[in-house]
Amino acid sequence: MDISQDVKYLKGVGPKLLEKLNRCGIFTVLDLLLYFPRDYEFLRSNIPFNEIDEEDKQVLTCVCVGIDRDVRTKTGKTLTTIRFNYLGNLVLGKWFNQGFIKNTFKVGQSYDLMGKFKRVTNRLEVINPIIGVKLAKENEIVPKYSLKGDLTDKILIKLIGNCLEQITIKDNLPKYLLEKYKMTNLDFAIKNIHFPTGRRELELAINRLKFQELFTYSMKLLMLKKNLRTKNGIEFRLVEELKDLKAALPYSLTDAQTRVVREILRDQKSPWPMNRLVQGDVGSGKTVVALIAMFNVIKNGYQATLMVPTEILANQHYLEAKKLLEPFNIHIELLTGSTSLKEKRRIKELITTEEPVIVIGTHALIQEDVDFKNLGLVITDEQHRFGVEQRSRLINKGRRPDVMVMTATPIPRTLALYVYSDLDISAIDQLPPGRKPVDTRFFNESERFSAYDLALEEIDKGRQVYIVCPLIEEDEDMKLNSVEKLYNELSDGVFRGIPIEILHGKMKPKEKDEIINRFKNNETKAIISTTVIEVGVNVPNASVMIIENAERFGLAQLHQLRGRVGRGSYESYCILIAKAKTENTKKRMEIMTSSTDGFYISEEDLKLRGSGEMFGRRQSGDEEFILANIYDDMNILRCAKSEAKILLDSDEEEKVKFCNEVKNSLERWSKYICFN
Ligand code: ADP
Ligand code: MG
Repeated sequence: MDISQDVKYLKGVGPKLLEKLNRCGIFTVLDLLLYFPRDYEFLRSNIPFNEIDEEDKQVLTCVCVGIDRDVRTKTGKTLTTIRFNYLGNLVLGKWFNQGFIKNTFKVGQSYDLMGKFKRVTNRLEVINPIIGVKLAKENEIVPKYSLKGDLTDKILIKLIGNCLEQITIKDNLPKYLLEKYKMTNLDFAIKNIHFPTGRRELELAINRLKFQELFTYSMKLLMLKKNLRTKNGIEFRLVEELKDLKAALPYSLTDAQTRVVREILRDQKSPWPMNRLVQGDVGSGKTVVALIAMFNVIKNGYQATLMVPTEILANQHYLEAKKLLEPFNIHIELLTGSTSLKEKRRIKELITTEEPVIVIGTHALIQEDVDFKNLGLVITDEQHRFGVEQRSRLINKGRRPDVMVMTATPIPRTLALYVYSDLDISAIDQLPPGRKPVDTRFFNESERFSAYDLALEEIDKGRQVYIVCPLIEEDEDMKLNSVEKLYNELSDGVFRGIPIEILHGKMKPKEKDEIINRFKNNETKAIISTTVIEVGVNVPNASVMIIENAERFGLAQLHQLRGRVGRGSYESYCILIAKAKTENTKKRMEIMTSSTDGFYISEEDLKLRGSGEMFGRRQSGDEEFILANIYDDMNILRCAKSEAKILLDSDEEEKVKFCNEVKNSLERWSKYICFN
């Protein structure tokens, strides 16, 4: 089987399924194989009654002993109850609004039921169990994929299983590395990441692939650095009008901002291309620093571009740039996914001319047909949302532009060495004056209504509120809060009569903009959203951030979310609602309530890592890696980095081969390099 083959030729893939696969970014067999599970279910089957744990899914072979009459619940649903016997114990299977399920069962026959079995007095109850004849195997590990639309795990498991059966994947790391770190081969790793034959095998697979991600990343970084260092850059003048711009700002720059601006301007003047990271905590005022940098470039007659991860943020920066820079006759354009075709054509046309223009935009900026004539400065904001790949694509839009990346996610110093080694680092380590630290509190689930009380009080005072949930729709286990569920609860309950809205990433950009705008204009008082609001949204009147299921978020992410409030002069609050079941969660919440310093938080975060949590990945929020997490996998990162350096400094055949693979690999999967 050819790995680059289109998935439409696979058995069982018709036009409908093809469309669904494409929507998940799966076009080729390779895409399919690299569509790794986001999690696993560790199924246990037919274990003794006493060992049944409510937290894990189980498969139990039960004998049907009776079918109850349907009853109507208080909320108007139809409840169907079937009685089973499991090793002499009573099991009640319950289904809601699925009256037809009764026809599936015959008294006296046995069925495999899969679900979470709860103990209620001396019997077991299971809600909406899955019924299968051949489900029960011993201790099976079942992959769970990220699904979009109505694609199911079952379909993916079948497709991927079929492909893997017909394929042997050739290795692409130098042999000596596999031996040195006792890593499994790629074939084993890919097969076991999908269908682990055991926990140990899964661990080996994950380790191998994490190493590969981090090694590839390090190689790319080192090559990018080499590439930039060997070229001459543009020597910009420092224009007189810089003084006028500073005088026209509605505030004076903080000392930290002034220092960083000076470092940037020094780079601009030098004959070498700038390659600088600007690290600054949320709210430290990075935007204005970027605008000043772009201002000088434009006044030198060059073009500049600012790429951000979301349209909301692009719009916000665009408006800010217009406000501050247009009085100085600076031409600014906005290019995002929802820019009309006609507009897009006009802007693309425009930038192929000599016109000194600032283009602010999203990923739309790195499309193939975007070509700058005279690009002098490339800035990416919220760097952790972009990969090194995307950064280099944007850099390649110009001949030798200056490069600046901005991030509000401080990472521990020990890590920065490995993660940002190609960059010079500037830190805006001071907040503008008058900011009060966000009063952060931790509430248990049961105290959630106190959080809403505080929110209502603030709304009464004229302020606004964010409520963040981990999910959009209700999830199957109903353990986590979702935007929709909470909206229904609150708009009909404690927030009755108060205008509140939902915001999440699956909405159309235009819809999102409208919602953000209504919030900015204080027409809506509260927004219930997913983490889409994490990045950069600036509404100074918002004073409360409530984070539901805070235990599900990383500390860096919580800190980012918290940064959405406390942007004005008001007293502001961040309330973390969490199930603090483990010591680790308690500690993490404590760190958040005791500090608002991003650097400190990141250092503490690192200290708490490295303890278990091998399985069941948490979302890192980091686009660069699929499996690896720089905090948890610092040791792997360290090895990968030094090996990459050794390989690049040697000039063996291996190196040439590897570098070519990195260069030629499909962009989407370049994290793992290609197979051959
Ligand atoms: P971030 O670093 O998180 O991107 P922003 O650039 O969005 O922060 O700035 C946050 C807010 O602080 C904005 O409203 C901006 O206008 C304001 N701001 C930036 N610099 C200063 C300053 N020196 N003094 C007062 N306010 C400032
Ligand atoms: Mg910002």
